[in-house]
Amino acid sequence: MPSSTVENYLKQILVESIQAESSEVAMGKVAECLQVTPGTATTMMKSLEKKGWLKYRPRKGVMLTSAGRKVGMNMLRRHRLLETFLVETLGLDWGEIHDEAEELEHAISEKVLEKLDEFLGRPSHDPHGDPIPTKRGTMPKASNRSLLDCVEGDCVRIESIQDQGRKFLQFARKNKLVPGKRIEIIRHDEIADSIELKVEQKTILNLGSKTAEKIVIRS
Ligand SMILES: [Zn+2]
Repeated sequence: MPSSTVENYLKQILVESIQAESSEVAMGKVAECLQVTPGTATTMMKSLEKKGWLKYRPRKGVMLTSAGRKVGMNMLRRHRLLETFLVETLGLDWGEIHDEAEELEHAISEKVLEKLDEFLGRPSHDPHGDPIPTKRGTMPKASNRSLLDCVEGDCVRIESIQDQGRKFLQFARKNKLVPGKRIEIIRHDEIADSIELKVEQKTILNLGSKTAEKIVIRS
């Protein structure tokens, strides 16, 4: 049984590899997502390799073994099901559920997890719009296009919000930038770093590229 710290590392590396659409995650990315120095990341990856959770290629990157991937997927499943439960059943604000789920995901048993999934009606996506892995460890493919990839005249739908921070989620909800909403791109001016859009055919909004990049869409 891996410790909660190891469970978190494996989950983060899995998320990075899914986002990068590559089984190998570069060491720079590993250090960045675990919020440690490159030296610390290397030490940690070597110790995870000894335990059989991943393969480490010096100065290159890491690749999860099937055992490591299984743990990572299970943690993602726990995290996303718990977030769904906290919003839909307990009525918590979606800006505060990430931190709560980070704690709870290590604490519940497999039995409770299965009951939770059944109780929630086996949801396919969490409140942020991220896909929830099944018990067998499969997951629908998420879109990799953000508002930043849109051009004038595009009509798209928000799939997910890629920032779990409370402040960003409050901003997103206040402006109706939530999964399922329809967006029309009025103008995308790269020089001015501004994307002007219409939300649900009403509100006009101006976003910079940093914000637009965090809003994943599907056309
Ligand atoms: Zn979360």
